[in-house]
Amino acid sequence: MLDAKETLQAIQIMGKTYPTTGSSLVADTPFHFLMAVILSAQTTDKAVNQISPALFARFKQPEDLANAKPSEVEPYIQTIGLYHNKAKYLVACAQGLVTQFDGQVPKTHKELMSLAGVGRKTADVVLAECFGIPALAVDTHVGRIAKRLAMVKEDATVNQIEQTLMKKLPKEMWITAHHRMIIWGRNQCLARAPKCQTCPLLFMCQEGQKRKHSIMRRM
Ligand code: SF4
Repeated sequence: MLDAKETLQAIQIMGKTYPTTGSSLVADTPFHFLMAVILSAQTTDKAVNQISPALFARFKQPEDLANAKPSEVEPYIQTIGLYHNKAKYLVACAQGLVTQFDGQVPKTHKELMSLAGVGRKTADVVLAECFGIPALAVDTHVGRIAKRLAMVKEDATVNQIEQTLMKKLPKEMWITAHHRMIIWGRNQCLARAPKCQTCPLLFMCQEGQKRKHSIMRRM
């Protein structure tokens, strides 16, 4: 596997190709950002950004959403996947914000994950993007690239990927690494057709795979 120094080097090389990256979800408040992240599960940020202006205008504050029925939310989000369930989660999440946190988005994993529709990845993204709290959310791109580059074991779970990357990378790089790996996954290391021939990380990928296979041979 790639060691800590090499893992950091890979993230730095990604940054040379894509120097400025950040979340592509557009929101004006932590509450709206939280809504957007919940909505982005199993759909694209672009699809969420298309529906969010009207949704945010209708539900400006957590109280507005907490007092609504899911059926009132559905017309605003019906172009994205799983909208029935997402409408329920949004309303329940807003109710939790109002009843448990005085309408404020909390700033810890534990508190965020106590809200409906909020798992570890959503909490990581909200902490990082809204409050600048170091976190390394593992989505499908991050997980795939960490494995292809042999930054983590091939059979690592999402939780193990997160823990391994956090150990290998300095804390101040966690948010940046998350962004760079996502953009890398969208543009270079695509799920079905990675552009290996033009990839500046090809030498690292080959080295990582070589070490991985030599370990497997010894087992
Ligand atoms: Fe992805 Fe291929 Fe680049 Fe490795 S060499 S990071 S598999 S695109």
